[in-house]
Amino acid sequence: MLDRLDQQSPDALLALIKLHNADPREDKIDLGVGVYKTADGATPVFRAIKDAEQRLVDRQQSKSYLGPEGDMAFVRALEPHVFGTALPSGGRIDGMQTPGGTGAVRLAFGLAKKAGITRVFMGVPSWPNHAQILDDLGLEAVPFDHATSDGTADMAALRQVLANAGEGDALLLHGCCHNPTGVDYTPVQWDAIASLLADSAMLPVIDLAYQGLGDGMDEDAYGLRTVSAAVPELLVAYSCDKNFGLYRDRVGAFWVQSAIADTTVRAISNAAALARANWSMPPDHGGAAVRMVLEDEALTASWLAELASMRERIGEVRARLAAAGHAGGVDLAPLGRQKGMFAMLPVSAAQVQTLRDAHGVYMAGSGRINVAGLTMTNVDRFVAALDAVTG
Ligand code: PMP
Repeated sequence: MLDRLDQQSPDALLALIKLHNADPREDKIDLGVGVYKTADGATPVFRAIKDAEQRLVDRQQSKSYLGPEGDMAFVRALEPHVFGTALPSGGRIDGMQTPGGTGAVRLAFGLAKKAGITRVFMGVPSWPNHAQILDDLGLEAVPFDHATSDGTADMAALRQVLANAGEGDALLLHGCCHNPTGVDYTPVQWDAIASLLADSAMLPVIDLAYQGLGDGMDEDAYGLRTVSAAVPELLVAYSCDKNFGLYRDRVGAFWVQSAIADTTVRAISNAAALARANWSMPPDHGGAAVRMVLEDEALTASWLAELASMRERIGEVRARLAAAGHAGGVDLAPLGRQKGMFAMLPVSAAQVQTLRDAHGVYMAGSGRINVAGLTMTNVDRFVAALDAVTG
């Protein structure tokens, strides 16, 4: 029976980690996998999370089961940071904890399918797992161009989608720090998207996986909050894995917004049933640590300060790249306007290979770089390598 299975290719980015680790060159540069790195190349545990974990060890009385919704105090503590003061009242929104943003995306699409959605429109390129999850669920992914060649959002393509799609269609939007392009909507563009969505029967799904790593916690939630205020129904997939540095602890949340509380109660009961069938309940530890940070003013301040320093470092690297102007055939100027950890460079697979072999620069075959892999000490060497390979 099992010999009927086809071999699946390994995750390309995870394979790249192994290649990078095996490379003895001391000045190698890792721009592959999407984790934040300090100027020393480390991905440390946040100080606030370390403190919260210590308190958890000291105070946690039991590890007995929660339910498929996980730790609801974690979800409630997160809500003001995500939705701000605009959180719709009257029970129109409810949420649950999920295993990472991936679990939340899975629940969003699974619930959308149960509600009758058959097609999901998504700007491409996107995080590869979006398409994989849709494929696994038997939903049709309908691609459109996310960005134009000048490195800004392709609003014409999005407007066309919104004009032509309707009932039974969902629209997937990245809330901020678009992965892989770094091309975000401006507040003015979000205003336009929200009003177009208000006039459309499409179901919006917002994936917010990098809040706080673009322009700030409130700024990065502008799109989500604006759409939430404009439309009756919305699904939100959220990750705490980047902005709390919890990656392997798998911390995420999922929210449903409906027109009336009664619909939200039913929707959440369906999401809980899907969670039960998929993973039963989310892992507790990371979510509990986030809850302890958010319930303590001093820990919250420490978390926000550390997040701000990460955001500033990413901004500095972006500014330095943009100031370099052109590196060979690559225009780096748009990187200064783009947000978050990722950017797409117009390089061929062969050039990516040469960057790796001849210069020790490790990046995804697609041309995506993790800007956080660069530092003030290696950024000039990276630009020189890019110049040499694409010039
Ligand atoms: N959405 C996007 C756009 C992402 O880039 C990622 C992570 N790479 C996720 C969701 C999932 O994040 P997590 O690691 O929390 O599952």
